[in-house]
This record gives sequence, structure tokens and C-alpha cells, in this order.
Amino acid sequence: MTQRRHSIAVIPGDGIGPEVIEAGQRVLEALADRFDFALDWTTFDWSCERYAETGTMMPEDGIDQVRAHDAIYLGAVGWPSVPDHVSLWGLLIPLRRDLDLYANVRPVKLFEGVTCPLAGRTPDDIDFVVVRENVEGEYSKIGGRLYEGTEHEAANQVAMFTRHGTDRIMDIAFELAQTRRKHVTSATKSNGIVHTMPFWDERFEAAKTRHPGIDTAAYHIDILTAHFVLNPDRFDVVVASNLFGDILSDLGPAIAGSIGIAPSANLNPARTTPSMFEPVHGSALDIAGQGIANPAAAIWSGAMMLDHLGETAASDAVMSALAETFKHPETRTRDLGGTASTSEAVDAVLKAMG
Ligand code: ATP
Ligand code: MG
Repeated sequence: MTQRRHSIAVIPGDGIGPEVIEAGQRVLEALADRFDFALDWTTFDWSCERYAETGTMMPEDGIDQVRAHDAIYLGAVGWPSVPDHVSLWGLLIPLRRDLDLYANVRPVKLFEGVTCPLAGRTPDDIDFVVVRENVEGEYSKIGGRLYEGTEHEAANQVAMFTRHGTDRIMDIAFELAQTRRKHVTSATKSNGIVHTMPFWDERFEAAKTRHPGIDTAAYHIDILTAHFVLNPDRFDVVVASNLFGDILSDLGPAIAGSIGIAPSANLNPARTTPSMFEPVHGSALDIAGQGIANPAAAIWSGAMMLDHLGETAASDAVMSALAETFKHPETRTRDLGGTASTSEAVDAVLKAMG
């Protein structure tokens, strides 16, 4: 039997990015040995550091260089001296858009041993997934300035929701709910945004008929954010537009303890291009180079990558091991009130895998 091989494009990035990615690679390599598959890594230096040296975040043919891989494993990019439009529009957004990674999937889970900022909540109460539309909606380039520099100056921005784009993100959310607790919540605002959001609601209704057996709810985004804080146990899968999903997918990890744990997947579920897996956190330059970054978000993102590549047993094994390490202060990193360094936290995960 030939061994399963997966080719991974690795983009460590800036700050703690390379530290947590190296930690994740150590864990993934150990899993590959144990579950008898192989990972072929190709590393790309695309980052703000590269931008400082060469003037671009990635080469002009960068997207084509990663296109043939099975997945992309990204750390974090960002330097305070490099404006967001350079780091975002020079790397992350082209990767998402040109590879059509239209589904941003962010699990939110409170682990035993992790302090929840919401009083009285237990791990049973917080276990849901935010599914964010990642390539259209509010984040469009359509619009501009009128009467620039005059007292009548104005700016407008067109949000674009297509039937194709909306239906396919709904389908991802409903299919995910099918594998979980069979409930989907839609984030809307059709009382205030009178064209795109009623359309979003219609497509949500249409998705319900395509996916019988799934319970649903819909909330306006304002009250939905309140429910995240007051009633997180209401949620299983939450489907949201690009803007609303962006907000919810930062609020979600915040209620589950630490940004150092939260993972994300940018998926092309059709698998015609490599999907991308990355921690939610940024380059965290304040703690870079100290060996204290929490590797959990990178490890969990790696587990999601293995799951996407069909290595579900390996993915399950690392998640159980990771959960075990949160229970003890000596195997938790400092952001979780523990004492472990990045490498000690990785050692603990490897040990818990047995
Ligand atoms: P960005 O601008 O991309 O959001 P950032 O440098 O602001 O990046 P964040 O990742 O947003 O950093 O993190 C905010 C703070 O949370 C950091 O300054 C850091 O102290 C902490 N933090 C983030 N990630 C981790 C981690 N993996 N382990 C420990 N602490 C972290
Ligand atoms: Mg930040």
C-alpha cells in the first residue's frame, strides 16, 4: 500500500507566527508518524519582513506557487509599520479571493481548565462554530468618493451579495450542522439594511428547504452579539456575512477564554484549490521571540487541516491531547494562567498523545 502524502505550503509570517507554526509542525509530524501518512512541507517567506526587504508581501506569481499544494498552513502576518491595506490586500485577501476560499470556519469552544470571562459558564455551554462568508458581501471594492475635498464630500460603498455566493455559504453551514447538533442561526439585519439583508434572509429560507431536519433561528446582528455573551449555549452553527462574520468570529473566541487557542479554516469545500488554516490571533509582537506564545491555536488549526485532508483519526487524537493539556497549570501557557513555554506546551501535547 502506498503511503498517503499531503503537500503543505507553509507561510510562517511575522512575530509569533514562525514560533507557533514550528510548534504546530512538530505536532503534525508526530501524528504523521503515528497514523502512517507523510507531510511534504514547502516554506514561503511571505511576510511584512519580506515587504520591508523587497517591497512586496509575496511574489507576483505567489498564488500560482501555492495552488498545487493540498493545503496552506499560515502563522500570522503584521507589523505596526506596515499598513493593513498592504498586509491584508497584499497577501491574505488575494489568497482568500484568488483561491476562492469562500468559507471561513471558526470553532468556538470552552475547554476544561480554561477560565471563561463569562461568569458561571462551563464547557457544556460554549461549543459552536461561526461560518463567515469570506469573499463577497460588504467587503467589496465598489464605491468611492463624491465631491472630494468640497463641503459636499461623501463616500459610498456597495455591498454585493450574489445568489451563488450566498447559497453556497448557507449550504456549508447546514452541512456542518448536520454533523453537529443540527441547529443553524443566521446573522441578519434586514430591519435596517433593506436590500442585501432581506435577500440574505430569503436565501436562508431557501437553504432550509434544501436541508430538512435542521432547526434554525435568525437574529439581527445587534441582539445576536448580546446573545453570544448572555446565552452562548443557544448556538451550534452561526452563518454570517463577511462583515458580521468578521465581528462574530472575534467575539466568539473572546468568550471562550484566550485568543491563543482560537483556530480558523479558510475553505474551498470543492477542493479545487488548497484550503488555508491559520490561528485567529495576529503576530503579537509584544511577546515574539520570548518562546512563550500559546501554540494551541496553531495546533488546533493544524488539526482542522488534517481533518480536511481526510486524516480524521489523527485530527481527533490531537484534539483530545490538546484538551488534556489545558487541565493542568504546568502544561498551560501564561495567557491561560499557566507556566509552560511554547515548547513545553508542545511536549505536553505529544506526551498526552501517548
Ligand atoms: P493583529 O494586528 O494581526 O491583530 P496583534 O499583534 O495585534 O496582531 P493579536 O494576535 O491580535 O496581536 O493579539 C493581541 C494580544 O494577545 C497580543 O498582543 C498578545 O499579547 C496576545 N496573544 C495573541 N496571540 C497569542 C498567543 N498565541 N499566545 C499568547 N498570547 C497571545
Ligand atoms: Mg490585534
